[in-house]
Amino acid sequence: MDTDRTLLDLVIETAPDAIVTIDGRGKVLSFSPAAERMFGYSPEEVLGRNISCLMPAPHRQQHDGYLARYKATGEKRVIGIGRQVQAQRKNGEIFVAEIAVGEWCNDGQHVFTGFIRDLTDRLEAERKAARLQRMLDRLSRVQMLGEMSSALAHEISQPLAAITSFARATGRVLGDRDSENDKARLYLDRIATEALRAGEILKRMQQLVERGKADLRPQDINELMRESVALSNLQPDQASYEIRFDLADDLPPVLADRIQIQQVIINLLRNAAEANGDEDQDDVHVSTALFQDKKAISVHAKRNDADEVLVTIGDGGPGLPEEISERLFEPFVTTKENGLGIGLAVCRTIIKAHNGKIWADTNAEGGADFHFTLPVAAMP
Ligand code: ADP
Repeated sequence: MDTDRTLLDLVIETAPDAIVTIDGRGKVLSFSPAAERMFGYSPEEVLGRNISCLMPAPHRQQHDGYLARYKATGEKRVIGIGRQVQAQRKNGEIFVAEIAVGEWCNDGQHVFTGFIRDLTDRLEAERKAARLQRMLDRLSRVQMLGEMSSALAHEISQPLAAITSFARATGRVLGDRDSENDKARLYLDRIATEALRAGEILKRMQQLVERGKADLRPQDINELMRESVALSNLQPDQASYEIRFDLADDLPPVLADRIQIQQVIINLLRNAAEANGDEDQDDVHVSTALFQDKKAISVHAKRNDADEVLVTIGDGGPGLPEEISERLFEPFVTTKENGLGIGLAVCRTIIKAHNGKIWADTNAEGGADFHFTLPVAAMP
């Protein structure tokens, strides 16, 4: 019996969650060490007091009512169920906690045990991840717009140049002696001037997009890879996929714009996940072995001879579509029904701005391997 009691004490003393027991009227009977750390009270300060001192308003005032209602109706709102509640530390700080309550009854005397977990760190991490995700989504849209306008500018500037030349040529054909054609010549001249102006606007727009400079700093590529994988899995509309990592552990820092390279990795991961499809979700495996099972995505990072780090993202999908294999990285090239064909073009622009290279080939499994390189950051 004694041994049991010691063991129980040990469990309570070492439990990472706070354990607090109260009687049927809400009086605190015990307060575990984790509860002391969580709430900032010593046991002497709370033992015998009403548990409501650990709650913010309006629960502080209403908790006695909750207990009375339970006693009268037997309706369980938290007992045996567990829920998120607001709690208050001694210093007044209010935090979100998860509480599960167990009940014990003897001779009509109730004892409730509350197991309380502080969710502050978890919620903060979730908020941070969601914030990062929103930032990336926004950036991705801006980059797509940039890429699209740049491609549009390229496409439209040729017909505009042709309009200018034809207008000028027609003006010359009309000759300059015949005053009846004065008006027509004037209009043709205007057409040529307007077309030139439109061309200038497009050129400036293109320059603006291309000037979007990368903020290059030494970065740990493996960390970037892990972060991007975590972020890409957060997408609610994306079927989750397992990822096999094969990251060399002696890599030097690379010179990279953190957010932009995350964008590249996420784009490639999404394409890989889409190529894998989701019919065989059960077949997706994680392993650190050689790239062998189909339907898994492998992520590699290693150093090459040219003082660059090579990143590869491979999948077990059908491989590169032959009809567009030469034009994969061009804007608006897509084989997907709802595809924009912009993702890989964005990747190419970003990698080029990093002085790296990007290319794709078919892997041994018949799936696609997308590779890119980043220069190693020079040591100070
Ligand atoms: P989108 O995904 O909108 O089509 P992308 O530029 O990202 O635009 O991709 C262009 C095309 O490249 C895709 O439509 C697809 O045909 C091909 N592609 C990209 N990634 C892969 C991959 N991992 N496996 C096979 N084909 C791919």
